[in-house]
Amino acid sequence: MISFEIDLVRALYVGATILFILTLGGLSHQESSRKGNMYGMIGMTVAIIATLFGPYVTKNYHLIVVLMATGAVVGIFHARKVQMTQMPELVAILHSLVGLAAVLVGYVNFLDETISLTGVEKTIHSIEIYIGIFIGAITFSGSIIAFGKLSGKMSGNPLILPARHYLNLIIVLVIIYLGYMFTVDPQISNAIYPLGLMTLLALVFGIHLVMAIGGADMPVVVSMLNSYSGWAASATGFMLSNDLLIVVGALVGSSGAILSYIMCRAMNRSFISVIAGGFGTDSAPVATSVSEQGEVTSINSDELTDLLLTSKKVMIIPGYGMAVSQAQHTVNEIVKLLKKKNVDVEFAIHPVAGRMPGHMNVLLAEAKVPYDIVYEMDEINDDFDNVDVSIIIGANDIVNPSALEDPNSPIAGMPVLECWKGKTTVVLKRGMATGYAGVQNPLFFKDNTRMLFGDAKKTMDEVLGNLQSA
Ligand code: NDP
Repeated sequence: MISFEIDLVRALYVGATILFILTLGGLSHQESSRKGNMYGMIGMTVAIIATLFGPYVTKNYHLIVVLMATGAVVGIFHARKVQMTQMPELVAILHSLVGLAAVLVGYVNFLDETISLTGVEKTIHSIEIYIGIFIGAITFSGSIIAFGKLSGKMSGNPLILPARHYLNLIIVLVIIYLGYMFTVDPQISNAIYPLGLMTLLALVFGIHLVMAIGGADMPVVVSMLNSYSGWAASATGFMLSNDLLIVVGALVGSSGAILSYIMCRAMNRSFISVIAGGFGTDSAPVATSVSEQGEVTSINSDELTDLLLTSKKVMIIPGYGMAVSQAQHTVNEIVKLLKKKNVDVEFAIHPVAGRMPGHMNVLLAEAKVPYDIVYEMDEINDDFDNVDVSIIIGANDIVNPSALEDPNSPIAGMPVLECWKGKTTVVLKRGMATGYAGVQNPLFFKDNTRMLFGDAKKTMDEVLGNLQSA
């Protein structure tokens, strides 16, 4: 009977794994992302049912039900309440929970006296526990710092300690030594000391790693922590001898690593230095004062409407401010009207626009903007010569020419959308504040740039009203 149950659980786990692979495939395209999410939900339901009714869970059902119900209530409450602009910080804090779970499972495994392994098996199990707690602790503390930075509760500037690479190296060497002490000691009462000290050091390591990264490099942190949370889950799978957790953790870990690589490419940063944790801006962001840069030319929404109606090709570049103002639905209505008036409208998406990977694509999909007019930066950056009007909706760093022109800029080398090559650029923002990287933007002072000050949703509503009555 037990053997039948184990076979059934294995079969369900294989089914869940396939569903998770289909999820990742689905999430790689906007058209299939809803289906991808659905596969993920079904896969997770199958995985939970298989685990609950499998041979390994034999008691404490009431406790599991109470905990799952509590978790579900908290999760549903927060998911319903969270604003789109808070999604990146929600993702960061959820990663921290994966890390915390890996730490707790590690300690429970370590303290479990019913596990009586000897010899090589015991050593392997100890290494699994040690690595699992190590990755979990880094993920936990690093994600909490990322949450603080993304939510604005902490400064986004990098904290650069003197000799920080040596500090990291020393921590890693001490952790390796403690790992040796931990695995060779058969006594729980002795081994707890190196394990406890390592946990503290790993927490400090996670904090230091993420504190040292700031400004425009933050997207890489988000995707790296995504990857770490996968490896933490995978390590937990090894501790619990749970094949599904190992495979799914590895899927999340490796897809997070691939995403980190893509984000690094988008930021023009080296992947190896990121993996080594040696990344971050060496110079603190400098915001030159507005008066040093010259005068800006402002326009109003009526003038923007006129510009749009006399254009043949319009490019829309959304940024974080569009998420803040929630202008995406109005923007979609404007696009529909302009198309009716035979104006060609396209969207240009920078890979690090907003505050999480794919942030703009999610907003545009939510507003039902057709996918075939949404282009990635690489696909569209050469087309600006033919653009009559670029509308920058609450974007700043991703259209900052100093990334290309000023080698001393904190965002130097980052590819940006070269909208200034078009005929006219209209920037929608509330004032002259800098973007996430804290760098002033010379685009605002160019001859062919017009500033349209105000909340982007309000401005776009005015333009929509004008177009409807035009
Ligand atoms: P930025 O943060 O550079 O600029 C956003 C601009 O939006 C601000 O200058 C702000 O100006 C304006 N804004 C804010 N609210 C409104 C509003 N209601 N109406 C109109 N405008 C508004 O955003 P970008 O998208 O250009 O660049 C993203 C930045 O975030 C990059 O530096 C990136 O590295 C970083 N980042 C990205 C992550 C990712 O994964 N995508 C994660 C973490 C960081 P004002 O206040 O004057 O209105």
